[in-house]
Amino acid sequence: MSDSPKSAESKNSDLGDMSTDEFRRFGHEIVDWIADYLEHIDDLPVLAQVEPGDLKARLPASPPEKGEPMETILADVDRLILPALTHWSHPSFFAYFATSTSAPGIFGELLSAAFDVKSMLWRTSPASTELEEVVLDWLRQMMGLDAGMSGFIYDTASVSSMHAIAAAREGVEMRIREEGMSGRQDLPLLRVYASEQAHSSIEKGIITLGLGQRALRKIPTDQHFRMRADLLAEAIKEDKQNGFLPFCIVATVGTTSTSSVDPIPEIIPIGEEHAMWLHVDAAYAGSAAVVPEMRDILKGCDRADSLVLNPHKWLFTPFDLSVLYCRHMDLLRRAFSLVPEYLRTPEQDKVRSGSDYGVQLGRRFRALKLWMIIRYFGHEGLAARIREHCRLAQLFASWVEASPDWEVKAPVPFALVCFRACPELTGETSEARARRLDLLNESIMHAVNASGKAFLSHTKLNDELVLRLSIGNLRTTEKHVRAVWDLLTRELQRSHSDAAK
Ligand code: PLP
Repeated sequence: MSDSPKSAESKNSDLGDMSTDEFRRFGHEIVDWIADYLEHIDDLPVLAQVEPGDLKARLPASPPEKGEPMETILADVDRLILPALTHWSHPSFFAYFATSTSAPGIFGELLSAAFDVKSMLWRTSPASTELEEVVLDWLRQMMGLDAGMSGFIYDTASVSSMHAIAAAREGVEMRIREEGMSGRQDLPLLRVYASEQAHSSIEKGIITLGLGQRALRKIPTDQHFRMRADLLAEAIKEDKQNGFLPFCIVATVGTTSTSSVDPIPEIIPIGEEHAMWLHVDAAYAGSAAVVPEMRDILKGCDRADSLVLNPHKWLFTPFDLSVLYCRHMDLLRRAFSLVPEYLRTPEQDKVRSGSDYGVQLGRRFRALKLWMIIRYFGHEGLAARIREHCRLAQLFASWVEASPDWEVKAPVPFALVCFRACPELTGETSEARARRLDLLNESIMHAVNASGKAFLSHTKLNDELVLRLSIGNLRTTEKHVRAVWDLLTRELQRSHSDAAK
């Protein structure tokens, strides 16, 4: 027999969410837990001390049939999840680009999860839409970018750059949106230019857009890993002679391997001569432009067409939040806007709708956390922290330079140091030396990382394995930088004494 309306209603009282009392209790507990975690994070191993498959083996293979108490779930965060974490918020995390979450950022994420806004149309998210426009204009002003640049939030720089290249392609007026690229005799090979040091996300964006990897021409760099503008100009001319269509240049401010800065003032006139789009990948280093005396790193960008920077890298914003500044929002919109009847609104011609500017329909309310971060730290507070990270990097580089057994391998314009151990052995061929130093540096890095006391990563420069120390965490102080230097020098000594045995 079916339920009467009355009995169905009483049944419903067992449905729905956690009670607000319970939410309040566990909410307080979780905030306390996070405060303890951040307070004592120094005591945890930076790199997860687990083997592949360890966590999976400890998790049930099937879901629970019945709900479990929050106490049990939270206990399992301690017991199972914590040991399998690599702690990105650890002050001795120096790998890749060191990043930092922050208390106002965490609060922003919490509120955003509570609001659960899908920022797709203005009316589904007036606060998200308008706060995003305002906060990105604040950030633009803090970086000294000109008012012609309009900001838009994506999740990552990979996605921001892919959208920038799509807008650039829309600008070539070849009806690619309507007719695609395959099976067309009338379409020349479209070319994008980036330095050989550009991030792999540029190539991935090109693959995703169906341009094909051969659309990317990698331009060699100089001895400081900056794009050679003269070789860029030659490459474009040569491609044009071969009937190709050069349409986009990607310059990098803060390359991933060394944080080198491409010579944008030299690249600008080349792009302009050929009516090409200039996209600037400042995912890492763009944040440094909020430091007034470092604004010059974006010199020339007042003539760029688009620029990406990642507040989730060096602006103390929890992952994820990437900003694309673009001078031609109309082209971005033309490339992506598609409004079916069920999304049509009376105000659509007067307002911005997030879904018009990318592949996503719904978007998270990310502007909230950036707004809270900028307000809490202020422009001065953000600049002071970035300035301090640069000072610490210079300090570390000075120790490396002062030691005969170590060398700095690239200029240090920001807070990343590329360096390696280079102890001499007499009577060694240069080939044997190169191999020995690669193995030595790799083993030092693995030993430091295995210690759990610090985490470093590496790259290859001119075929040499080079270690990278990146500083970008709010909790990193001189004490941590000194400690990792001591660890490195101790590991080098240990390898000497092992070799002598
Ligand atoms: N561009 C540069 C210069 C980077 O260093 C990185 C990542 O480190 C990216 C792009 C990709 O960033 P995301 O993880 O936000 O896609």
